[in-house]
Amino acid sequence: TVALKDVSKVFSDGTVAVDKVSLDVADGEFMVLLGPSGCGKSTVLRIIAGLEEPSSGAVLLGGEVANGLPPRERGVAMVFQDFALYPHMTVGDNIAFPLRLSGLEQDSRTERVSDVASVLGIGDVLGRRPNQLSGGQRQRVAMGRAIVRRPGLFLMDEPLSNLDSGLRAELRAEISALVREMGVSTIYVTHDQAEALTMADRVAIMRKGVLQDVGTPTQVYGRPATLYVAAFLGSPR
Ligand code: ATP
Ligand code: MG
Repeated sequence: TVALKDVSKVFSDGTVAVDKVSLDVADGEFMVLLGPSGCGKSTVLRIIAGLEEPSSGAVLLGGEVANGLPPRERGVAMVFQDFALYPHMTVGDNIAFPLRLSGLEQDSRTERVSDVASVLGIGDVLGRRPNQLSGGQRQRVAMGRAIVRRPGLFLMDEPLSNLDSGLRAELRAEISALVREMGVSTIYVTHDQAEALTMADRVAIMRKGVLQDVGTPTQVYGRPATLYVAAFLGSPR
């Protein structure tokens, strides 16, 4: 589980990026963090990953306070919009890289990589280099590399925003299937309402650093907590 308790982030120039956000994500839950550009979504993810410290409030991972814990000790994997693969390594080596760092032996690495690659539908391109792949395949490799260590928590920051709409729809379904199969808790950031409502177990909607509403897609769409949420989701009135 992940829990944020009254988490705020004020940057040194006075920008309040996150304003007293409290949020729980249950084990195995797929939570989508939705809101317009600049509302603080990435900052929330960076705080959970340990790439940014909150100005106040607590981050709990598995019930333990994680404030101050270095990113690598958090059991969290993150995929960004502008994911970077290692260009000189094959697809297989890219995915295996985190396992090599963790000292897992060769046979187990090969097995894990082939499991993840087959779930992601890239089992037949493991010997290629990133520049020999399509954009969608590259994004799958980035996801494979992030998830191969079986993190306790998977954070994705607009992972599909550089792809065309057909591929987005395809990968949306794949990501949902992948993380549900692995049973890993996920926080998925997007500013796309349709993406949020189709993928989420629950949706958390932010505006200007403030959490406006949290609930299942049916709840937030059908019974929006604020006028802002209703307008943002285009709920019927
Ligand atoms: P987008 O959808 O465009 O990615 P976002 O919801 O992810 O937006 P954040 O990147 O979290 O938004 O930024 C939230 C606010 O904090 C914005 O006003 C942004 O300009 C500001 N901000 C982010 N990083 C910093 C920083 N290092 N210093 C000052 N302000 C920052
Ligand atoms: Mg962002």
